Amino acid sequence: MQGGYLSRNLTVNQLLFLTHLLLVLILIAGFSVTRYQSEWSTRLNNEVVLAEQIIAPLVLESSTAVAGRNYAALTLPSQKQTLLNIEPLLLLDVTGVSDYSSQSVSVRYQRDIADIWRMDVSTDEINQTRKQRNDLGSALTTTTQQSDAQRKKITYLVKKLDGELKTIERAKLMSKTVALPWLLPAGDYSYKFLPDEKVLVVQTPLVNKNGGTLKAVFDASTLYHLKTQIVKTLFLEAAIALLASVLLIIVVSNSIVSPLKRLANKISQDIEKLDISDMKELKRQDEIGILARALQSLTEKTQSQMKLLRHLSDTDALTGMSGRHKYEDKAEVLFRTSQSKQQNFGIIICDIDSFKLYNDTFGHSKGDEVIKKIAGVLLAVTRNNDLCFRIGGEEFIILFTDKDANNVHSIAERMRKEVQRLAIPHHTESGIVTLSLGAVLATQASGHWSYQNIFDHADEQLYKAKGKGRNCTVFSEIDASMAPTRNVNHADNAIKFMD
Ligand code: GH3
Ligand code: MG
Ligand code: MG
Repeated sequence: MQGGYLSRNLTVNQLLFLTHLLLVLILIAGFSVTRYQSEWSTRLNNEVVLAEQIIAPLVLESSTAVAGRNYAALTLPSQKQTLLNIEPLLLLDVTGVSDYSSQSVSVRYQRDIADIWRMDVSTDEINQTRKQRNDLGSALTTTTQQSDAQRKKITYLVKKLDGELKTIERAKLMSKTVALPWLLPAGDYSYKFLPDEKVLVVQTPLVNKNGGTLKAVFDASTLYHLKTQIVKTLFLEAAIALLASVLLIIVVSNSIVSPLKRLANKISQDIEKLDISDMKELKRQDEIGILARALQSLTEKTQSQMKLLRHLSDTDALTGMSGRHKYEDKAEVLFRTSQSKQQNFGIIICDIDSFKLYNDTFGHSKGDEVIKKIAGVLLAVTRNNDLCFRIGGEEFIILFTDKDANNVHSIAERMRKEVQRLAIPHHTESGIVTLSLGAVLATQASGHWSYQNIFDHADEQLYKAKGKGRNCTVFSEIDASMAPTRNVNHADNAIKFMD
């Protein structure tokens, strides 16, 4: 339904343009998305591989330390320095269960505060350590019988416990107060890119017996910019592709539509004069070429049929003389040409006398023979087929220009006499078939007369000839003093065909 609506309301050009554009947009969008995905996953994978390579040695060290719950190894200043040296590493979380005591182990390193501390210190542990330290401290002050060596050892232990207490209290405080700049995703995954935080989180299992996890957060702002860069590049490429496609679409659409328009323009011309043999579309091998060649063949067929039709309508079938159509085409044109050349113009209208009676007496087919014979006489006298017309049943018109026009009267007389000489028997007073003629010569003096005026005048002369008893010619030369009059009484036949 929609397609029908579109094809009804859009031009071929618009339809082609829109469908191509839609196709190109879909293709470009599809390619861009695919390219983006493949490009992005390649870059991300590279980054992940790099991160995993960085943390690989840490995994081994951390696994050993977790296995033995060796906090010293995990939080040593040298360890902190090692981590600080890994520039993109923003955070490291080591959590696990020790292999011997099945106690949990948790350590965190955070670059923004450049510190590393235990995350699993409990209040009990602090209290116990404090109690130990206090017990030892009071043993030192209350008991007097200790040897010097014992006192030194206890003092050392008190100091050690003091240090330890300080460390774990601080660790407890830090665990409570130091906030993470990001919300770390929980769950089981090997890596996650957080675009809003611009970080890459990589998670690896520890290799100690009771297990654990090492979670490392890397600065991925370069990766993030890379992502923006990829999107920008793809957009630019898509825009260029779209522009090129639009140009291509315009060229293609025009190469289809322009020839169609040219063909349509040609067809709208007069089919009789149409000549498409020079159209370059005829040489095309595509559908337009097929259409153009079909049009050429159609034109040729139509033209030959029209030629035949014109010939049939131009020629009177009975006499072979020019017919009424040709007369209508030619008379006015001939008159105007002779006027523009300032030539004289002549016209003879002739009519077979009492022809109805002839038909009634001898039959229609005999009548036809008479018409043929008389037409033969008229053609023989004028010797110009082009200017002799049978315009009605038994009526003929002969036109003359230039010098011939001057002889219009004598020619008319010759025609009448030649018909008389045929001596075709008829049941009239004269006993033979005769002709009545009206002849008119229009000289320069009749410049204000139209063809119709001259025709009417000739018809009037014919009417006079009939009135004079038939078998005669009435001639009139139009002079400057004569005003054209429209013959209303007897030129009905003649006027009829001019309308
Ligand atoms: P007028 O002397 O006044 O011209 O008399 P008319 O009988 O010749 O004139 P009218 O107009 O009364 O009759 C013309 C006749 O011509 C009538 C018709 O039978 C005949 N006619 C017209 N066309 C043909 C034709 O093609 N063949 C034949 N045989 N007769 C025709
Ligand atoms: Mg008549
Ligand atoms: Mg007649």
